[in-house]
Amino acid sequence: MNTQSHLKQTITVAVTGNPNSGKTTIFNCLTGANQKVGNYGGVTVETKEGILQHGQYTIRFVDLPGTYSLTAYSIEEIVARNFIIREQPDVVLNVVDGSNLERNLYLTTQLKELGAAMVIDLNMADEMKKKGVDVDLALLSQDLGAPVVPTVGTRKRGIRQLIEAVIEVATGKWDRPQSPPIHYGREIETELEKITHPIIERRDALQNSRAGLDNSLCMATSPHWVAIKLLENDKEVLRSLHDSRTRRAVSEQVERSRKRLTEMFGEDPETIIAEQRYGYVRGVSLAVIRQTPQSRMNLTDKFDKVLTNRVLGLPIFAVLMYLTFWLVFTVGEAPMGWIESAIEGLADLIGRHWSDAYVPALRSLVIDGIIGGVGGVLVFVPNIVLLFAAITLLEDTGYMSRAAFIMDRLMKWVGLHGKSFIPMLTGFGCSVPGIMGTRILDNRRDRFTTLLVLPLMSCGARLPIYMLIIPAFFAPDRQAMVMYSLYIIGIVVAVICAKLLRSTIFRGSPSPFVMELPPYRIPTLRAVLIHIWQRTWLYLRKAGTIILAFSVIMWALAVFPQVPAEQLEGLSGEQAQEAALRYSFTGRLGRCLAPVIKPMGFDWKIGTALVGAFPAKELFVAQMGIVYSLGEADGQSPALRDTLKKHYNPLIGFCIMLFCLLSTPCMATVAITRRETGSWLWALFQFGGLTLIAYVLTVIVYQTGILLNIGLG
Ligand code: GDP
Ligand code: MG
Repeated sequence: MNTQSHLKQTITVAVTGNPNSGKTTIFNCLTGANQKVGNYGGVTVETKEGILQHGQYTIRFVDLPGTYSLTAYSIEEIVARNFIIREQPDVVLNVVDGSNLERNLYLTTQLKELGAAMVIDLNMADEMKKKGVDVDLALLSQDLGAPVVPTVGTRKRGIRQLIEAVIEVATGKWDRPQSPPIHYGREIETELEKITHPIIERRDALQNSRAGLDNSLCMATSPHWVAIKLLENDKEVLRSLHDSRTRRAVSEQVERSRKRLTEMFGEDPETIIAEQRYGYVRGVSLAVIRQTPQSRMNLTDKFDKVLTNRVLGLPIFAVLMYLTFWLVFTVGEAPMGWIESAIEGLADLIGRHWSDAYVPALRSLVIDGIIGGVGGVLVFVPNIVLLFAAITLLEDTGYMSRAAFIMDRLMKWVGLHGKSFIPMLTGFGCSVPGIMGTRILDNRRDRFTTLLVLPLMSCGARLPIYMLIIPAFFAPDRQAMVMYSLYIIGIVVAVICAKLLRSTIFRGSPSPFVMELPPYRIPTLRAVLIHIWQRTWLYLRKAGTIILAFSVIMWALAVFPQVPAEQLEGLSGEQAQEAALRYSFTGRLGRCLAPVIKPMGFDWKIGTALVGAFPAKELFVAQMGIVYSLGEADGQSPALRDTLKKHYNPLIGFCIMLFCLLSTPCMATVAITRRETGSWLWALFQFGGLTLIAYVLTVIVYQTGILLNIGLG
């Protein structure tokens, strides 16, 4: 036989699986008596090899020791994974006990992560049937990126199909579907990237100097896998790093990363990583197992049975969201009042001690510009804290991923999948990290669709606008409901827009995915506090920088140019203030806008605040504060809310919120969209599209309200 063709027709298959999955039984079915027993070099782990002749193919099966995982805890695990990494078998045949699918998939997931070309042997098909476990084979195959063949080892059923699948994969004939990788969460992925970096660098350097020199694990497998192992504190992998210099560079980073993550989560990274894997496995199982017998359920199963229930899941999610807003209003009310009166007190104090005759422009800048602008935004810190406390709790208990799992059904209808809902949830905090988070979507069409509609998720910066307006116009028992409706409107419009995009410019079917479902857990107080603090700090920093800077600019635009004194003759104090404001840049801009925004029920003052909200949404509140505190005579400004109540009605109030929710994403969002899509075109498309939608919808709502006489009182 010609060597060349002989080589091509020899296939090496590593047989892996959990202990008692039926590995040896299957191995015997495949190879019959054609076996030889040996030992792995240096260790006393027994190995068996067997040869099968099948048509033109010589298939060599190696029965690896049974393991539950591929960590370095036992010699069996090390032997199994080293064989796969170093010997590079053509196929890894993973024998899975189908009647214990979820537990067995833990190893499968790690084999997949190792990049092995796999065939899944879903063994114990008879047991599955007896226990009433029903599995969606096609979906399982898609999720794992490998063919799935059901077998009954003890009765030699399915063996021929198994051999055919092995040959198909080995010869590259099996059409490997796009299979989603495990995502370890933002924090861990960030650290993984940091560790991968020095590994790749050193590897490239070594490759150039001494070609293909050593048989270290890092040379044979992906740096990403090595990084995960290092983060898991895998000493075996650390030892195998090429040389002492790499080891030093890499292990320093590993130590830093491990420390950071331990502080963050209050647990070892290996625990977090294992949990994430369980989450992935759980996601696969929950999706593919059509029926689990009642008797086998544990606590997580029981929670999931209710929380991810087809009928109950969505209403439960809706109720939890409602409770969140209710909390933001009721608990937030008192501290908001304290801060409000403290800020008013400060303005009064300065006003009384700083005479109007002494540098009046600076006095006005401090009182009307800075305190009116920044102070107006700071008032809402308690609400921000509460909103993020609720979101963090839902996230850290593991509930949010269930929410995404539930939303998957809705999202499928749109042509997206539940995974898109995760960056969208982030978008409730801020669109910027949400848009960056769309990177977890592999497919460009999924990603762009999600990213373009993401600003419709009502972000934290809109909260101050709602908090200003809702209590001004709506009775306490309706407040949470009004806010709730805004969030829902945002989601509904996003879903409709996504559907439109998916059926026009981004036509195509969504890529397969696995929704990771980590086990439920009680979040640590520390992690919750850190998350809340991070968000609150961002808000405070924004108030101290961008909001402050723009408040000063807005104040200046509202004061200059100053109206000539002769025009003010004969006017009362209030009329004079109004005339001065009209004469300023702000007033002129506002009056240009007035005809355009009139159909939405907005006057020119609101118009300037809408323009002002572009650098940051909170500036809407700041600008209203500035405009109305300048507009009032002698700085004795009543609370902004009372002023609004005097000038507008609930319908206009609602329209303001609706427009702010739907319109123009803020400057930072436009910039990040430009960066993530790599094109100004998409950023402008998003900007223009959302503003247009906001305009049309707000006009419709306002005009309908007028017609039906709703909210005019
Ligand atoms: P290993 O530890 O993975 O090598 O598993 P074994 O091949 O030793 O099998 C463990 C047990 O499961 C043995 O009692 C087998 O007879 C049994 N077994 C293997 N395959 C099947 C199957 O498909 N159905 C059933 N009911 N039992 C099986
Ligand atoms: Mg065995």
